[in-house]
Amino acid sequence: MDAACARAVDLGLPSVAFTEHLDLTPWFVPPESLHMFPREGADHIDETSTFHAPAIDFAAYFESIERCRATYPSLRILTGLEIGEPHWFPAEVAELVGSGRFERILGSLHSARVDGRPRAIDEWFHTDTIEGPSEAEAFRDYLTEAQAMIEADDHFEVFAHIDYLTRQVAMVHRRHDPRAFEDEYRQTLTALARSGRVLEINTRLPLDPLIVRWWHEVGGPAVSFGSDAHTGARVANGFEQAMTVAAAAGFRPTHDRLDFWRR
Ligand SMILES: [Zn+2]
Repeated sequence: MDAACARAVDLGLPSVAFTEHLDLTPWFVPPESLHMFPREGADHIDETSTFHAPAIDFAAYFESIERCRATYPSLRILTGLEIGEPHWFPAEVAELVGSGRFERILGSLHSARVDGRPRAIDEWFHTDTIEGPSEAEAFRDYLTEAQAMIEADDHFEVFAHIDYLTRQVAMVHRRHDPRAFEDEYRQTLTALARSGRVLEINTRLPLDPLIVRWWHEVGGPAVSFGSDAHTGARVANGFEQAMTVAAAAGFRPTHDRLDFWRR
């Protein structure tokens, strides 16, 4: 967190948000995928091959935030959560978000239901592409579930990495063409726009400019920029390109540098 703040100050960013992962979904991890959970290993995978993400140490999190705020007073440092599948855990999410301790709430979809059991999208997609669902089916399922998440949960403000599945496709060196799923993308984006929320331009991969354009066309009110950095060195990675894409689609910064870019 210290390295991220130092980098943000170096780059002249006005603000950073530390959106701690909150993944409440227990993922089924088949034996052939155990190697994808090397660090967690036996500690968090039980005898039914189910992975339980370790609980967040909130005391340490807030203490670290306060320490960063004291060290980098010129930087606006936001607390936050990235909640995976918030619509599957309404009570827990309502309680946490209702605590008012988090300034930026992201909603994301890290899971896919496979044969009725939740699997981590990255793990499932890499191991099952050959015999499992086709790529096209996977994208339709992903976007359908994303729409369900948007419609069922009203606690998150920003929809994170709509291209999470695209990232998996990119890792196996294939290209995802969103035009083949334009209807599905537009439906999901329309649901998001109708709820008045924000689309994140996540720069882990450059987000396809078409998706940002569709977001504007369906009435999307705003975009945020997220580098999904996880390390200090990657803070704001790819933002120049992302800003160009956002501007070309019709989004502009407002007079408030801490605000989202709006239409
Ligand atoms: Zn994520």
